[in-house]
Amino acid sequence: MSSAFRAAVRTVLVLAVAAAAACRGAEGRGAMQDRPAIERARMVAEQIQARGVRDPRVLAAMRDVPRHRFVPAAQETEAYEDRPLSIGHDQTISQPYIVALMTELLRPQADDRALETGTGSGYQAAILSRLVSHVYTIEIVEPLARDAERRLTTLGYANVTVRAGDGYAGWPEAAPFDVIVVTAAPDHVPPPLVAQLKPGGRLVIPVGSMFGVQELRLIEKDATGQIHTRTVAPVAFVPLRRLGLALP
Ligand code: SAH
Repeated sequence: MSSAFRAAVRTVLVLAVAAAAACRGAEGRGAMQDRPAIERARMVAEQIQARGVRDPRVLAAMRDVPRHRFVPAAQETEAYEDRPLSIGHDQTISQPYIVALMTELLRPQADDRALETGTGSGYQAAILSRLVSHVYTIEIVEPLARDAERRLTTLGYANVTVRAGDGYAGWPEAAPFDVIVVTAAPDHVPPPLVAQLKPGGRLVIPVGSMFGVQELRLIEKDATGQIHTRTVAPVAFVPLRRLGLALP
């Protein structure tokens, strides 16, 4: 083989390897960008639809909201797994199925005003914000409230208002609400939340002790103001804390 021929072969090989690497790079980047959306589609099919959640608007919101942006960076790769994850300050972001179930139970309507007690990461608030006109959400751990507010703003969820405080008392200035969701468990249903529910409104809340079984309840206020309660499922939430009261 002449040295010129060998050099030409080497050049072609180098170009081929470079082209292959470039292709892989492009594919790799594409796959990286699509991966969260693919993981969300699988999460919805396998964890949420498979367990009976049917509301198409809820399923669409669960497919759209980037859950991996609501968990600490070190846990991004676990964001779409079938379990709650730690978000710091001894708190957790709920399992995707539980978020979907609670949201479906609320039967959110496009012009509803919603209240959440227990902002945590802001994920449940982001899901709800896709389905109602405005979400008011209260978080008792101030740094969590600040982080959630920043995160929701960065991600473009403009119809969410976050406040640091004790959500047991609800948000009287913004009441009444069509839907209220509580994502930490008190040992009784806070009367202020029931009071701030509109006639026709829905309240979804885990109730029980920190150590015993908690039950997820759907509480509805009918047009005449009567309260109807249904127990939906056993659940495990962090306890609802009270400002100025000893922790359980
Ligand atoms: N909905 C959250 C997860 C909630 S974890 C999410 O999507 O990420 C429960 C949260 O409730 C915790 O962040 C906890 O600090 C908060 N919390 C507990 N007691 C509270 C209270 N009295 N008022 C407001 N938030 C409270």
